[in-house]
Amino acid sequence: MIYMDHSATSPVDPEVLEAMEPYFTDSFGNASTLYSLGREARTAMESARKQVASIIGATPDEIIFTSGGTESDNIAIKGTVFKLKKKGNHIITSAIEHPAVDETCKYLEKNGFQVTYLPVGEDGIVSVSDLKDAITDKTVLITVMHANNEIGTIQPIKEIGEVAAEKNIYFHTDAVQSVGKIPVDVKELKVDMLSISAHKLYGPKGIGALYIRKGIRLEPIIHGGGHERGIRPGTENVAGAVGLGKACEIAERYLEKNSRSLTSIRDRLINGVLSEIEESHLNGHPTIRLPNNAHFRFTGIEGESLVLHLDFKGIAASTGSACSSKKLEPSHVLMALGMDEVQAHGSLRLTLGKENTAEEVDYVIESVKGAVGTLRSLSPLWCQTEE
Ligand SMILES: *Cc1c(COP(=O)(O)O)cnc(C)c1O
Repeated sequence: MIYMDHSATSPVDPEVLEAMEPYFTDSFGNASTLYSLGREARTAMESARKQVASIIGATPDEIIFTSGGTESDNIAIKGTVFKLKKKGNHIITSAIEHPAVDETCKYLEKNGFQVTYLPVGEDGIVSVSDLKDAITDKTVLITVMHANNEIGTIQPIKEIGEVAAEKNIYFHTDAVQSVGKIPVDVKELKVDMLSISAHKLYGPKGIGALYIRKGIRLEPIIHGGGHERGIRPGTENVAGAVGLGKACEIAERYLEKNSRSLTSIRDRLINGVLSEIEESHLNGHPTIRLPNNAHFRFTGIEGESLVLHLDFKGIAASTGSACSSKKLEPSHVLMALGMDEVQAHGSLRLTLGKENTAEEVDYVIESVKGAVGTLRSLSPLWCQTEE
């Protein structure tokens, strides 16, 4: 199988699995206990915390472990607005956030908060001047994702961070797709909170982290035994934390090398598809995008059929995002780019990983070309556009 759906999830790196293994067996202790078995687990958690902090330029005491990207987003957003509800009730986000942010904002809207969803251009990028215009004296939080999970577009986080800092508004970014793929430095980006998920960077599912800048106080949304500074209580997932830490360490070590080789095979894929297949288009910004993301649309094609054809050829790909592929509604991200429903349904996302090769890319280009040809020969939509 050729796996090209790394934005949905990634395989666990063998080195990560090896690092985790002892914490399921010999070193199974509860990290909050006092005897040596517990202290061993605590030591492992704390060195994992250092590894996570290191990849984003934070200090270990600014990192809390969570159950993943979704939980980190919820804790950051609800934790901020509940804490600051006396100050204001306005949140600014973008129209293309992951559901973990988008649905959290919609929930808050139903509960007395006001949300501005910043539009994006055809290239999938928010405008900093739109952001400035949206700020009111009731704005307590800006949450804009670093890199988009569908189209890979990278947002001007540093510029947004500067605006937020100047106006004294908390700024959270969902960096689940960017950490490990492009350089992320919380100081440089001027973010107050940042979400990470392990399974998008060769770590295990069900563990993530939230960076909370020193001095920021959040209202806990989960209550319990006071673990993770009371922000995320619950017996620590020691093996998971160790896995996330190891995944971050490996990603940081090879960041430049992996980013360079991913960009090169991504561009081979993009150029190959666009030149080999007529009426094919690249969605999102041509260059301000993740090094591993290629997102196309093909006139007269239905993305779901294309994905099934590719599956038959041993290729794992996705229509838009893993989350929306089970629904029939068009992706809110593609609609925000100004596409109509038919265009949005004709999309294909290929997200590369460090194990993909140029030969695989060539096979994928040929396979997509073949599948698009077959589907078009059957499609009434395509006949109409040809006439
Ligand atoms: C995958 C993803 C999430 C959710 O992370 P989980 O660990 O699966 O909960 C959040 N945001 C983005 C941008 C993602 O790609």
